Amino acid sequence: MVPRQTSRDLRNESRFEVLRALFELGPSTRQEIARHTRLSTATVATLVTEFLSEGVLRIAALERRTVGRPYERLAIDPERGRIVGVDVAETYVAATLFDIALTPISHGEVTLDEHENSQAYVVDGIVRAVEAAVGTGAGEAAVGTGAGEVDRILGVGVSMPGQVSPGAGVSVFAPNWDWHEVKIEELLAQGLRIPVYVDNPLKAVALSEMWFGVGRIADSMAVVNLGTGVGAGIAIDGALIRGANNNAGEWGHTLLQLDGRECRCGRRGCVEAYLGVQGIETSLAEIDKDHPALQQPLQRDFIEAVATGLAAGDPVLAELARRTAHYLAAALGDLVTLLDIPYITLTGWTSTALAEWLVPAVRAELPDHVLPGSLPDLTVEVSRVPGNPVALGMAAFALEHFLGQLGLPSPASAPIARRRTRPQS
Ligand SMILES: [Zn+2]
Repeated sequence: MVPRQTSRDLRNESRFEVLRALFELGPSTRQEIARHTRLSTATVATLVTEFLSEGVLRIAALERRTVGRPYERLAIDPERGRIVGVDVAETYVAATLFDIALTPISHGEVTLDEHENSQAYVVDGIVRAVEAAVGTGAGEAAVGTGAGEVDRILGVGVSMPGQVSPGAGVSVFAPNWDWHEVKIEELLAQGLRIPVYVDNPLKAVALSEMWFGVGRIADSMAVVNLGTGVGAGIAIDGALIRGANNNAGEWGHTLLQLDGRECRCGRRGCVEAYLGVQGIETSLAEIDKDHPALQQPLQRDFIEAVATGLAAGDPVLAELARRTAHYLAAALGDLVTLLDIPYITLTGWTSTALAEWLVPAVRAELPDHVLPGSLPDLTVEVSRVPGNPVALGMAAFALEHFLGQLGLPSPASAPIARRRTRPQS
């Protein structure tokens, strides 16, 4: 077990322990928070006082006692402000407006043409999705200068598909888009006059699973994302795993088949070449190159066509599901063997559409790919994090950044997170 005070992950920051306890428990007394977080009552009392003075918490109720002062029941004050979480994928931008209790309020989505990927096009898509979520879409109203909800936005968290590098501002290396060292924060700052925090979707899904998914009952887990690309968000002993360059979790580019199919990363035999949507299309073409599902020009429509065909009993697609589950079980087996994690949750639109066919088959086959010692507690299931887990995780990161900007004490604050954040103007 990592010592609590030396890890720099979010959960070990005392103030996030307090907030997370309130997300989990609902309105709570200081004593209940201390018991839940295992922080000292003095630490909890200090943090609560600061949160109250900043308006982040409010007293939700007073409970009378026979002796002494009444208990104050504390809650996150959702009216303190708004946070936007943005999920940028290769085929869409989805933005969700949250209150600071991270309850979703409204949503905006912009479709991206997966064949168009200039910086200006993608940044414009992000700005339009945020405007749609906040309700200033269309017309001339720019986010940051409008009225109403816009003025209440405390921060925007944006997930970018690719390697998000914390050095020298935030740069994004997105090989699928042929982006190299793109200074994404500078570009976004021109469109969004709100503090922006940028990270990678694998970190976002891991954080949302830790706060709102199986993290409530387990300390170690992998959240496996299956979509255009594939990857894993990883938490071990309650710590979000980033690695030296924020690139941990690129499980999609680990080896499934030596000298196998070409991958978009330029190597051969990667997991993504079998489990990314293009990989699934390739598998189908190997079984039946004339299958009508392959006529779908857009990846999401292809996956939907596969799900519809499976439900109708198409035997070719049943074979496709069998092969895909076989690849997934083998690749997950390596993840479990390497990390010794008891929980794997599946997220992303391929997971959602095909879970009914993939999950039972993967559960049945996984024992063939895992050392027996890792099996007894192993659970594989579709993530139960509500809504869009990338947007939710990015909103949680942006909330962390906002609290950091307030100057609240943060003895174990993550230095990477701070460096990666644009100064408030
Ligand atoms: Zn690859």
